[in-house]
Amino acid sequence: MRKGPKLVIVGKQGAGKGTQCVRLARHFVIPHISTGDMFRSAQRADSELGAKLRLILEAGELVPDELTVSIVAERMAQDDTAARGFILDGFPRTPAQAKSLDDLLAPNSLDLVIDLQLSTELATERLCSRRVCRDCQSIYGPSRMPAVPGTCDDCGGSVIQRADDTEEAIRRRLSLYESQTAPVLEWYRSQGLLVEVDGDGSTDDVTTRLVHAIDAAISPVSAEPSGK
Ligand code: AMP
Repeated sequence: MRKGPKLVIVGKQGAGKGTQCVRLARHFVIPHISTGDMFRSAQRADSELGAKLRLILEAGELVPDELTVSIVAERMAQDDTAARGFILDGFPRTPAQAKSLDDLLAPNSLDLVIDLQLSTELATERLCSRRVCRDCQSIYGPSRMPAVPGTCDDCGGSVIQRADDTEEAIRRRLSLYESQTAPVLEWYRSQGLLVEVDGDGSTDDVTTRLVHAIDAAISPVSAEPSGK
């Protein structure tokens, strides 16, 4: 079995984490674990939990740490993450979640935390024009529109605007990012695990930057130019 890297990707909403994580998961052949995708799926259930999640997500608020950590813990308990590695997308988002992730993982097992950077102006612009598939969560926008309007190229599902991609919810999510998630970055920086990658540019260019940053972190010697 191929053993891949253990990664966390952090970045403002709209920085391109979702799109890039799908590509990185394919490139490194590792499971992509997105708490946002899990919650979007769970909120569709006709249950008390589904209704509670719908309210939280639509307002752009964060799901309580206890619930978030429990769904991540359940997913991380599956043996593929230990055997193959993973890319965690959208988790941890608060200092308490970062501490819980530390408790969940074997000591020193995280290879890299990536801060995918984008200005608030560009992130807001991207979020306002973003569309997603309701079923498989494929992401669309000005650089990739569905071939048949409103229909997902990948699964045939309905392509919609996310309920939390409204101006008010976007403002709330970006403000929570500054207050709750920025300290998580500082915590990883102090452990020497953080690398910053510029999220501005074409999807392909950003993927290339991310792959280089990850390769350099997981095999520092082979990523150096050979000089021959
Ligand atoms: P995302 O797709 O990562 O932007 O997440 C969509 C929404 O899911 C967020 O606005 C939160 O309401 C919720 N969510 C996702 N990840 C987390 C997390 N780690 N902690 C709390 N809430 C989260």
